[in-house]
Amino acid sequence: MIDILENHKNGKIRVVASKHSWSSVIETEDVLIDMSHFDYVKIQEKNHEISVTVGAGCKVKKLLVELNRKGLTIPSVGLIDQQTIAGATATGTHGSGKHSLSHYIESVQVACFDENGKYAKIVDITEGTALQAARCSLGCLGVVVEMTLPCIPQYYVQEKATFRDTIKEVLALEKESPLQQFFLMPHSWKFFIQKRLVSLELRRRGLAAIYRIYWFLVIDLGMHLMMKMIVSILRSRRLIRFFFRSIVPSLVFQNWVVTDRSDRALVMKHELFRHLELEAFVVRSRVLEAASFVKDILQYADNSNHQLSELTNESLQKAQLLDSLSSIKGRFTHHYPICFRRIMPDDTLISMASGVSEDWYAISFITYQEPRDEFYALATFLSNSMFELFQARIHWGKWFPQTSEHLNQLYPKIDTFRDVCSRYDPNGVFRNSFVEDKLGPWTQ
Ligand SMILES: Cc1cc2nc3c(=O)[nH]c(=O)nc-3n(C[C@H](O)[C@H](O)[C@H](O)COP(=O)(O)OP(=O)(O)OC[C@H]3O[C@@H](n4cnc5c(N)ncnc54)[C@H](O)[C@@H]3O)c2cc1C
Repeated sequence: MIDILENHKNGKIRVVASKHSWSSVIETEDVLIDMSHFDYVKIQEKNHEISVTVGAGCKVKKLLVELNRKGLTIPSVGLIDQQTIAGATATGTHGSGKHSLSHYIESVQVACFDENGKYAKIVDITEGTALQAARCSLGCLGVVVEMTLPCIPQYYVQEKATFRDTIKEVLALEKESPLQQFFLMPHSWKFFIQKRLVSLELRRRGLAAIYRIYWFLVIDLGMHLMMKMIVSILRSRRLIRFFFRSIVPSLVFQNWVVTDRSDRALVMKHELFRHLELEAFVVRSRVLEAASFVKDILQYADNSNHQLSELTNESLQKAQLLDSLSSIKGRFTHHYPICFRRIMPDDTLISMASGVSEDWYAISFITYQEPRDEFYALATFLSNSMFELFQARIHWGKWFPQTSEHLNQLYPKIDTFRDVCSRYDPNGVFRNSFVEDKLGPWTQ
């Protein structure tokens, strides 16, 4: 590792992981390092606290399996377990009802440069702003070799699916189901909720094994196949509306209460069909407004005769965005449930949920339609308007249209992040064009 860094100290170095990011954060112009052989998992106990030191290239799935053998798990997981631990934390990957994975990191071992950028070294980052930067670093501090995360006892999650008409009703359920995630269903505009809480029992209940098979066959495979066929082969906008109004609700069993182990209950096989995603983060105090804005805009994108609400009209006028509405008018019929997940504030410098004391909601927009031009137009509009109206931040690993101007306003600690990066990488060897453009201005 030291040799690779010193041989390329005048070039560019990036690491490739599971390639589950859509943004250009993943690109390299020069050397690309694959850390997949660094996939060890070492569990240790110190002062009655159990932690795990995990090689950067270890997939989340492998980590969860190894920990489960000891009755343990990590405090947070995303919707899939195919990312590497370094890749997932580099972009602030999150699930629902907890902090992002990045927040929990206790220490990070990084291969980086000395203060003159001449010699390579391996350092352990264990505290202060350096640790906050290393927790979600977009690969800018150096090559992450390993990291240490706290372990918690394995837990079981009780889940029940239900529908509500308004987001107010959905948020009112949060107290009794703090791990819940919910979906605004396009075209019926009802909310589908996966009510989730930590179960007091440590065993599967409610025919959990059958529920998993049902979910895999009916939702992961069946629903996605049907939707892909409608948007990519039949290309019928009427059928999409019919599908969401009449078919999708009948795929959900509302009264099935099921309890399953956390690493089974919290993930799905979302990686089976290739999609593209924009994910916008808004603070909790703005999520009601954001949800009705999103609904209004998606209806307008679907139907050029849709009348925007007075509030949406006024807000867009104030933000001088009324003219740009023409780029989306009647052009795109949204065809995937809009997922809302709650993320607690992160102790990092630049993860999407960092920098404020209230919870965040990540709102995701997914497409399976190709070519993507109409979705890009909608996603650009949503990103720009949600930035102006709600100071929304976009997930670093997903489709990423925000500019450095946006980012310098959105992330109060971006200067500190740049300073820390320059300490570990004075010549910007670990910065690719995405990082140079989006996170600048850099002094070097
Ligand atoms: C189907 C699917 C589902 C998803 N679900 C979620 C979800 O539920 N929640 C969520 O928040 N996100 C989700 N994502 C996004 C995904 O978690 C992130 O994009 C994540 O960063 C991908 O991890 P990866 O291992 O594939 O890393 P890559 O995409 O390969 O790399 C990501 C970044 O990490 C850097 N990196 C990786 N390893 C190292 C290292 N050792 N040292 C330094 N830098 C490194 C890379 O250089 C790159 O900049 C999903 C993506 C897909 C495709």
